[in-house]
Amino acid sequence: MSSSTVQITPVTQSRSVEQLVRGQATSDGAGVKLSRVLTQPLQHRLDPFLMLDAFGSDNPNDYIAGFPDHPHRGFETVTYMIAGRMLHRDSAGHEGLLQNGGVQWMTAGKGVIHSEIPQQEEGVMEGFQLWLNLHSSEKMNTPWYRDFQAADLPHFVTPEGVAVTVIAGSSHGVQGAVQRPITQPLYLDLHLPQGARFEQALPAQHNAFVYVYRGEVAVAGQAVPLQRMAILRNEAQADGVVIEATADARVLLIAGQPLKEPIVQYGPFVMNSKEEIYQALNDFRDGRLGEEAA
Ligand code: MN
Repeated sequence: MSSSTVQITPVTQSRSVEQLVRGQATSDGAGVKLSRVLTQPLQHRLDPFLMLDAFGSDNPNDYIAGFPDHPHRGFETVTYMIAGRMLHRDSAGHEGLLQNGGVQWMTAGKGVIHSEIPQQEEGVMEGFQLWLNLHSSEKMNTPWYRDFQAADLPHFVTPEGVAVTVIAGSSHGVQGAVQRPITQPLYLDLHLPQGARFEQALPAQHNAFVYVYRGEVAVAGQAVPLQRMAILRNEAQADGVVIEATADARVLLIAGQPLKEPIVQYGPFVMNSKEEIYQALNDFRDGRLGEEAA
């Protein structure tokens, strides 16, 4: 997409940084080492987002075992692969190879059983997995899934030279690959040359955060170092966020409309009540989770 179609919308007052968060080292799946940036205690503050994992290693021992068959119910998973190759297979019969700059968007809805397995035995594997909640009225919907190769993702460059990939929502008039009317997620990957600014309009009630995965940026004068998440304050008078690159930087900017519903998580199931969690466990145990997908 050429930059001539971009309508740059300036931000009058930027949100400020409420909190800087460092990821927690953990492992998941069959022993994949990763950094959990958005953890369970932040689920209400960052509603509708439930989790953000950053994984990145050039040591195959950190990723090679992948994520063998496991279930999900009640939310969406968005996997953004910066480098490396991961094969996805699920109980609905979908299969896709996620690679270099591609996105897999999976709406688990009432239930999916899937595996996510690296398709490389050496080299760098780097990416992110974001969990996005579903409204109570959508948690038991039919599962949905799509793969987007890097070339399929809407992309533009601002006059200041910021390269923007619009995974979800819209930015400066460019519609992203995925739209969700209830949670209204915005998911941008920004590559900023040192000294460049990027402005993004945000509704004040939407929860929003920035994650820096290369270099360093500043938001409203506050430094956001490498591998930190900055939670952005919901300020009534702020009409968006202004991000300034204090070095060449790459950041994710993620925002969405909070659901304001009860969140009950048990591992890979996220529902609104304990009873619904017991139902998910029973359905999984009895082979009813993901069975009718074909
Ligand atoms: Mn999964």
